[in-house]
Amino acid sequence: MNGQKIYLKNMTYEELEQYILSRGQKKFRASQIFKRLYEGCSSFDEFTELPASLRGKLKEETLIDTVSLKERQISRDGTRKYLFEVPGGDTIETVYMQYKYGSSVCISSQAGCRMGCAFCASGINGLNRNLTAGEMADQIVAVSKDTGKRIGHVVVMGTGEPFDNYEELIRAIEILRDRRGLGIGSRNITVSTCGLISKIGAFARDLPQVGLAVSLHAPNDNIRRQLMPVAKSVSMEQLLSACRNYTEQTHRRITFEYALIRGMNDDTRHAAELAENLSGMLCHVNLIPLNVVREKQYRSVAQERASEFASVLEKKGIQVTIRRQLGTDISAACGQLRLNRSEK
Ligand code: SAH
Repeated sequence: MNGQKIYLKNMTYEELEQYILSRGQKKFRASQIFKRLYEGCSSFDEFTELPASLRGKLKEETLIDTVSLKERQISRDGTRKYLFEVPGGDTIETVYMQYKYGSSVCISSQAGCRMGCAFCASGINGLNRNLTAGEMADQIVAVSKDTGKRIGHVVVMGTGEPFDNYEELIRAIEILRDRRGLGIGSRNITVSTCGLISKIGAFARDLPQVGLAVSLHAPNDNIRRQLMPVAKSVSMEQLLSACRNYTEQTHRRITFEYALIRGMNDDTRHAAELAENLSGMLCHVNLIPLNVVREKQYRSVAQERASEFASVLEKKGIQVTIRRQLGTDISAACGQLRLNRSEK
């Protein structure tokens, strides 16, 4: 709500239908409105199929856009980073990436983050607020409009911990998947968590088709606790057990993200220990040579170190890839997104 106004993109299709009915309108108007919203129309004048009276009513009571573009940077590799303002004045970042298989967008789930991972920029100023489902979905609409591309893939890997904003996340995914709007396939959506285990169980029940990535970043509790405050309350054993339950229930492979940090977790014996812990799991490890964050003392690893680490995992039968770095020249890479305007 903005004063008395309702944000239309914050409603699922069914909620929009209810709203339309409650205003004495015919149900099918909801389908016309929903379609227009996700085509990217941002003025009610573009809703030409609606009677003028309904357009007038919508103008009076509702708003179309929830995020507004403040700034855009374009990387040499075509990656685009957006700074959007959300109602209340907070800003969030969203990243557009072009792959061979199509366009992918990395969206934020919170303004700021309270997880406080030692190597990540997103949590430096703590959490300001949760994003609404509409604010998450609207990032996709805005990027699609700017690029002129249909967005086929979504990763919830921007600022924030999505499972710390679970209800809105689930509603956002429902909106993104809806065929009457954006129609993004469940299998093309991936959510990344730092390991809130009760929500891993809920996610397996609620959205078994949606992909899950878990930020592991360490081969054992000792190292993980130095890097991620969440590890102080959830042990690796508890986390991996939740992950095993997840794969049993969904039959879907989990991606473990592992940022390689020089002198911290990048030794080949760490790789061996990691392989031991993950042995037999339906999983895949995605190694991310650390992206350096100005305020943090952590350093990245050379490509050879990443390859060595990967080959230890491979030899032990763990599937592994090294993440391609996109958008580093505009600080759009993992962990470099932040609440306030980023500097180049
Ligand atoms: N809060 C969620 C979503 C963030 S996703 C999570 O923790 O999974 C972003 C991914 O980038 C996470 O795996 C995160 O740990 C990782 N990351 C954070 N800072 C990074 C950095 N400086 N370099 C590389 N990866 C980083």
